[in-house]
Amino acid sequence: MDFDAVTDWAAHKAAVERHVMSNLERVMPGFSKKIVVCLSASARTSQQFTLNHRGAMLGWEMSPDQLGEHRPALNGLVRNLYFVGHWTQPGGGITPVIVSAMRVAETINARAAGGFAPTDFAPTDAAQPPSAASPELARVVHAETS
Ligand SMILES: Cc1cc2nc3c(=O)[nH]c(=O)nc-3n(C[C@H](O)[C@H](O)[C@H](O)COP(=O)(O)OP(=O)(O)OC[C@H]3O[C@@H](n4cnc5c(N)ncnc54)[C@H](O)[C@@H]3O)c2cc1C
Repeated sequence: MDFDAVTDWAAHKAAVERHVMSNLERVMPGFSKKIVVCLSASARTSQQFTLNHRGAMLGWEMSPDQLGEHRPALNGLVRNLYFVGHWTQPGGGITPVIVSAMRVAETINARAAGGFAPTDFAPTDAAQPPSAASPELARVVHAETS
């Protein structure tokens, strides 16, 4: 959906509800009469509760060119600053978010023990630009780290 194009969120939400209900009613006639409580959430609701940009439910788009190594890396421009969550590698969803946190935790633990984790993705001397979701971001990051 085009978040910025929505001017009346109440009307947008009502339209989505009608769309969902009509489809449910089509496959299960009489469904709407059985509903006791009906609650819905829009992208704006998600933004209000999670502060994710435009209410993004999975971070960057879940497309092959924006997943895995194509998402921003778990290490950033500042040494020992790490990122976890669905805007980073490997991607959106509960399990990938846990994976990002586990990778960072493993790396921090290994460093604390004086070792070098196999999953150590964060070069300490020559910071590599993280893979970025957009060429523009990649250029900025590269300029910052060069
Ligand atoms: C409706 C919905 C259904 C979903 N269903 C599924 C599903 O079935 N399976 C699945 O795998 N994934 C699902 N997802 C996706 C999954 O929930 C997310 O990818 C995941 O929760 C992202 O985790 P996160 O830690 O990166 O970010 P979030 O879960 O968004 O957590 C970010 C947290 O940071 C807080 N925060 C933000 N800014 C600040 C600030 N400045 N100061 C302090 N706190 C701040 C927010 O309040 C929030 O608690 C769903 C998402 C939505 C919205």
